[in-house]
Amino acid sequence: MAKDKKRLAVMKIYTDNINDPAKQIKEYKKLLKKSQESADINFVGFLFHMLAVAYNMLGDREKLFLNAVKSLTLFKNTDDHDMIADAYITLGTAYFNQENYQLALANYDKAYEIIRKHRIKGKSRLVILNNLGAVYDMMEDYKSGIRFLSECLELSKKESPDKTPELLVYSVNLAESYMRLDEPEKAAAILKDAEVWAEQVTLKPYLFDFRIKYALANYRVRNIKLGNKNADMAFKLAEDAPDAYSDVEVFRDLIRILLEIGDRERLDKAAEIIMECSRNVSHTADKLMVCSALADYYRGIGDLEHAVEYYEQVEWLYRTRTRELKQVQLSIHKSLKDADSSINKLNRMITESEERANKDFMTKLLNHSAMLKIGEEFIENAARKKEKIGVIFIDIDFFKECNDTYGHAKGDEIIREVAHACQIEESVNIRFARYGGDEFLGLTYGLEDDAVIDIARRICNRVRSANIPNINNPNGRRVTISVGIVNVAVTEKTDTIIQIANYADKAVYYSKKAGKNCIHFLDYGRTNPEGEDDPFVRIDF
Ligand code: GH3
Ligand code: MG
Repeated sequence: MAKDKKRLAVMKIYTDNINDPAKQIKEYKKLLKKSQESADINFVGFLFHMLAVAYNMLGDREKLFLNAVKSLTLFKNTDDHDMIADAYITLGTAYFNQENYQLALANYDKAYEIIRKHRIKGKSRLVILNNLGAVYDMMEDYKSGIRFLSECLELSKKESPDKTPELLVYSVNLAESYMRLDEPEKAAAILKDAEVWAEQVTLKPYLFDFRIKYALANYRVRNIKLGNKNADMAFKLAEDAPDAYSDVEVFRDLIRILLEIGDRERLDKAAEIIMECSRNVSHTADKLMVCSALADYYRGIGDLEHAVEYYEQVEWLYRTRTRELKQVQLSIHKSLKDADSSINKLNRMITESEERANKDFMTKLLNHSAMLKIGEEFIENAARKKEKIGVIFIDIDFFKECNDTYGHAKGDEIIREVAHACQIEESVNIRFARYGGDEFLGLTYGLEDDAVIDIARRICNRVRSANIPNINNPNGRRVTISVGIVNVAVTEKTDTIIQIANYADKAVYYSKKAGKNCIHFLDYGRTNPEGEDDPFVRIDF
């Protein structure tokens, strides 16, 4: 519940600042700082994911990549399948933006596999279908692209028929693939169906994209009238907000087809808009598209001087682009190296946070809950393999007096000293926890009684030889401990750690009653020479 609340607060930052990714980033970073201290790994992973999404909006490819990698690293080993899928999608997008389509596809495939396996519904499923379509398109496998984009459109019609902007975008994407596959009839039919959504959408870039592609499809099937109508609508939209459009490829195609048709008026208009658009274009591939469209335009209208000028630019941009594509490989290599070091840092953070969750801060022994967890594991194995489970219960004698006489800080030091005496005994089968206050608990698995008893003896000796003053302790005026031990097979009465610890606690109580500074081993079934029950055995050390 708390987890959902925290994530909802983040989503609110997202929706409140949907058009201001820089502000989102600032807020996420603040939360990140707080969360890293509390080491809530899943939430930190979620914040990295949101940072990646925001950097994607800002167009910062490197930070998108780095945050996507971090998010995936943190989620990979969890069972939060929705988030793992989203993290793979984001990393896929990061590779897509770096023009590494193979790696984009590999990550999208992984996301798709998780989404199908865990039957994840909703937005992630639509996004992955759309993205897979896009990446196959880029790799010029239009048939595969169409397969995913069709599924995406059908699914969104079924699942979210009220989300008109999405329906419009998915339709346009699918139509575009059909055009690339040289099937403009199909494209025109899809866009005709999408017109109902276009009438409800108010976002100009989406509308422009729809109108201009619908125009293009109609021109290509030689429905000139409908082509003209949509081209005019697109031009009108572009006049209102000339900087909102960045897809320049469509202009190149439009200019080519208008030249074929010989529509000089619309041709001039298209050229005018593309010149306006080109001011906002920074990517070499887009510049190339703009220049080649304008070169075609000038050649088409017979202005050879300008045509040559643009063709020269095309040639120069083409060389630049080839060089850039080589650079892309290098920059991916560098990003992976950077990501490597941040993954190492994150892995350290995960280990530390696990340690923090399992350890008692003061003594570095296991804490109570970790002890219960390990105890359950020991018991499970012991029951299966018919081994014994031992508990060594330790309580410091006259500890209240230590605090009263020497102060609380000295008391803490004594607790750490006893903890250290225990810690030395630790191994895979022997674990120690701070049970609370001045009490410690040792858990052993698969040891003989004598071996368990010897551990307790060594600890008592260590504490004794540390010779820490406690003037109020009549047993040598120094710090001593009382110990109770059991070592039992797992039965109905001893199938939880708490039950076994309660037996050991009885033995400690016996040690306290016997004058403290001693060990008692609880051996049920033991009798004295008179035949009476005598389960507590005093152990010397
Ligand atoms: P006994 O010999 O019967 O065990 O008596 P005791 O004085 O040790 O009494 P008891 O075990 O009941 O009291 C434990 C005391 O330990 C009480 C509490 O104030 C103190 N204590 C608990 N946690 C801490 C701690 O983290 N640091 C310090 N300095 N004292 C603590
Ligand atoms: Mg005590």
